[in-house]
Amino acid sequence: KLDHSKSNQVGAEAEKVIVGGVNSPSRSYKAVGGGYPVTMEYGDGAYLYDVDGNRYIDYLAAYGPIITGFNHPHVVKAVKSAAETGVLFGTPTKHEVKFAKMLTDAIPSMDKVRFTNSGTEAVMTTVRVARAYTNRELIVKFSGQYHGHFDLVLVEAGSGPSTLGTNSSGGVTVGTAREVITVPYNDVESYRAVMEKWGDQVAAVLVEPIVGNFGMVAPKPGFLEAVNEITHQHGALVIYDEVITNFRFHYGAAQDLLGVIPDLTAFGKSIGGGLPIGAYGGPVEIMDTVAPLGPAYQAGTMAGNPLSMQAGIACLEVLQEPGIYERMADFAEQLRDALEAAGKKYSIPTVVNQIGGSLQVYFTDHEVKDYNDAVDTDAERYGKFFKAMLDEGINLAPSKYEAMYITIMHTQEDIDETKKAIDTAFSK
Ligand code: PMP
Repeated sequence: KLDHSKSNQVGAEAEKVIVGGVNSPSRSYKAVGGGYPVTMEYGDGAYLYDVDGNRYIDYLAAYGPIITGFNHPHVVKAVKSAAETGVLFGTPTKHEVKFAKMLTDAIPSMDKVRFTNSGTEAVMTTVRVARAYTNRELIVKFSGQYHGHFDLVLVEAGSGPSTLGTNSSGGVTVGTAREVITVPYNDVESYRAVMEKWGDQVAAVLVEPIVGNFGMVAPKPGFLEAVNEITHQHGALVIYDEVITNFRFHYGAAQDLLGVIPDLTAFGKSIGGGLPIGAYGGPVEIMDTVAPLGPAYQAGTMAGNPLSMQAGIACLEVLQEPGIYERMADFAEQLRDALEAAGKKYSIPTVVNQIGGSLQVYFTDHEVKDYNDAVDTDAERYGKFFKAMLDEGINLAPSKYEAMYITIMHTQEDIDETKKAIDTAFSK
């Protein structure tokens, strides 16, 4: 067992002054059996070092953004140079233009972009823009998908296509919940039924094209195409939330891989090299609905700040290196095989969803294709696995719903060490 005594001390102090000891609830170990979360001291490449001096091979990647590792020299150089030349001006800079061009070049559905400070802000604004553009109010979303922490998306399913949503967080008004309809992902007929009933009032449907928030789940063949067709038949817009999926599977958005084009897209995480970032974009006609050109207001003192812009540019430059996505996918496949093999060897029902350099282990005996399948997996077993892996020096997400991410800094040695850790963790 690793010594976590210093970490626990920090955890006890943290609890007194920070709610739950964490600045985002997903960092708590509540879902994996409790205890203080490990307090990390520094990161280097693919490794994290905690305050007790333990080293971990990290697959959390800070919930996605750390695709080039914790301190890639190219990103560090950009951040240093940005810090030395002024961290914030409140005026346009050339960096914003360069970064906007890189994104619009990489993602064909997007002619114009706006930068925000987080994925939440990006998604929130796409909803406002869609409402302004369509002059409608209702939003459809898919159950279990996460779109940030603004009121409208903290709403879960009603009891079927005939009802609107109910809030899933205190502080979200009934009025807000009534503006949202939630339907099961990968279920065309439910979506069609909802749109037949409410379609003329729907401004947009919000979709994670590949789900990253109940593990990793791919769309069924034809699902996204049908969503596009039905949505457009009813005069509504399709918004892709690519906060997790952008630049995760290839240099660009998941929409390009899948060949399905939304009207608006929200970005975040990996595009910022680890600095706070979000962005949204789409065709000129829709984007020009945004102030100062149009009626949809969106702003931000820190939006497009020089630190995030230069880190983001550097991160995308690193991601253009040939072969890196293939390598990340190869490593993820090796870990998938190791997890499946360990499941068989120790008779623990194990299902792995792997897409490119991301993978999710589910402790279950059935396929995971929608949210209900994921809910129905063994959380206790995941908690045990999470803690056993931590003891072996492997840092994962403390939730059965969050994927493992390969970064460009992982090496074959790291993968081999992780395979051994998997075998040990399953044997316990
Ligand atoms: N959309 C998706 C798909 C996400 O996974 C997240 C964050 N987990 C968000 C939006 C919100 O992004 P942020 O935490 O940067 O506000």
